[in-house]
Amino acid sequence: MEYDENDFLMLSGIQHYAFCPRQWALIHIEQQWEENYFTIDGMIMHENAHNQEKTEKRKNLLITRGMPIFSRTLGIRGVCDVVEFHRNEQGVTLQNYAGLYLPVPVEYKRGKPKTHDADELQLCAQAMCLEEMLLCEIPKGYLYYGEPKKRQEVMFDEELRQKVIASFTKMHELFDKQYTPRVKQTKACRSCSMADVCLPGLNKTVSVERYLEKAMKEGE
Ligand code: SF4
Repeated sequence: MEYDENDFLMLSGIQHYAFCPRQWALIHIEQQWEENYFTIDGMIMHENAHNQEKTEKRKNLLITRGMPIFSRTLGIRGVCDVVEFHRNEQGVTLQNYAGLYLPVPVEYKRGKPKTHDADELQLCAQAMCLEEMLLCEIPKGYLYYGEPKKRQEVMFDEELRQKVIASFTKMHELFDKQYTPRVKQTKACRSCSMADVCLPGLNKTVSVERYLEKAMKEGE
């Protein structure tokens, strides 16, 4: 099955979904962060699209920043922070460059490595997009954390790939139904950026929209 471009979801949403499906739905279905999240993401994409110095060449390595990516089979679109193209016999041909190059996605994160696999899933989804676009196999990528300032290798094994597929399949189902999963209070709620909107301790059954509607009526 292939998704129509109009139905593509944002690749980066898989981080929110892995953290909490309700958090993802609040942001991407109910668009509670429409102004700050989607607008900023769109601006970054726009800037990258117009950056003429996106590619740098170093010996047997090409470094590309802000590369737009998509996958019709996963139904997603996004942008790679960095894609390194390493000269390698297993690689692919690139326009204007002699030889074969293997793409290696690199995602930069400000903080420390997380206790869950949201970053690995995001990186693997990027690799799966690149594989579909460039017709190649990408065995690994890197997550670069600000603390400590170091790269962490991520192998794109079958288990991680299957989890990416299962996550986006479920996200598409929820999006099509415009359904926000109900509150499921976990430890994650304590560090959730959407806790003020979600109100995990107060309301376990009502959507944010209905909660706000009720609150406004009560305030009248
Ligand atoms: S507060 Fe808890 S249930 Fe609500 S979105 Fe955040 S993590 Fe999910």
